[in-house]
Amino acid sequence: MRVKEIVNAISEKLPTGIVTGQDNVGLIVGNYDDECDKMTVAYELDAEVLNEAVRAGSNLIITYHTPLFKPARYFTSSHLHPNPLFEASRSGMNVFAIHTALDVVKTGLNFHLAKKIGLSNIHFLSPLTDTLAKVVVYVPVSHVEEVRLAMSRAGGGKIGDYYECSFGSNGKGTFLPGSDTEPYIGTRDVRETVEETRLEMLVEKHLVGSVIREMLEAHPYEEVAYDIYPLSSDSPNFGFGAMGELEVAIPIGDFLGKIKNLLDVETLRVSHVPNAKIQKVALCAGSGVPFYRDAVQKGADVYLTGDVKHHDFREARSSSTVLVDATHSGTEKFATELISEILAETFKDKVAVDVSKHQERNSFIV
Ligand SMILES: [Zn+2]
Repeated sequence: MRVKEIVNAISEKLPTGIVTGQDNVGLIVGNYDDECDKMTVAYELDAEVLNEAVRAGSNLIITYHTPLFKPARYFTSSHLHPNPLFEASRSGMNVFAIHTALDVVKTGLNFHLAKKIGLSNIHFLSPLTDTLAKVVVYVPVSHVEEVRLAMSRAGGGKIGDYYECSFGSNGKGTFLPGSDTEPYIGTRDVRETVEETRLEMLVEKHLVGSVIREMLEAHPYEEVAYDIYPLSSDSPNFGFGAMGELEVAIPIGDFLGKIKNLLDVETLRVSHVPNAKIQKVALCAGSGVPFYRDAVQKGADVYLTGDVKHHDFREARSSSTVLVDATHSGTEKFATELISEILAETFKDKVAVDVSKHQERNSFIV
């Protein structure tokens, strides 16, 4: 498959068009026209991962974290300071970063971690806002079904696990075709009145372009009247973090032991150790401190994340929600496993998926 086809297939599976903050995702290094029959999945790009991928015969590395976060001023490399992006580019390697798209979906990293912990009734901790738009189009009644299906095929009308959601109200549309037109209905210079349906559909903002393209393709008119309204409502499909419940309440010590084993971390940092048992668990893999307040508001007994600072712990000490730091990379332990599962299912026999054996860790216990 060509890299371009692989990128498109990944975007159909995960919302790579959703980018939060200063994240930098997608094809970071490479050529969309390259042929690729093997890819390597890695947590991050570094010299070891690049060598491993080259040895394995891959020409595409899929990373979780982006290898290019801060603006770079130079792309140079030396024996002492190998720059993996420079070396990747020189060796003909393509590099694609996923990150946000894996953080904000129900099939993503946070729900995956919640399932590994054994939580049930899992839902988003903090739904994403400003990710939705409403597309309204005026269609002659004869073509409503065709247009509705075309928009749905492009990803419009998805609300949670409900598909092809739309609303239609009928009315009369009027127009007067100009002298240079080729009207589908009516004749030039004669005012026309047509029975039309105002067809409304909720569309994720990152899909608006393709939904409009498909809608125009299916619509019979030469000039199509349509509106796009940005919405500020919560998205049912995307969010940060996850929250759920353990089957039975357990002492905090048992929970922390379970987390250490599961994430393979030697130490955990916690805000405090209450006597009460815990059952409601909230989490956000990586740097999730900004969502601690959501966990408190939703009555979580414990909040698991990474990158917790001294003052975050101080603030949490007076709360009933225990703040647990299992390190940034510890909470993201399953990122490569999950990405490779998704890619293996997406590409089946078309492209081989290798998983890097090199798992980057933030720090070491000495
Ligand atoms: Zn991270």
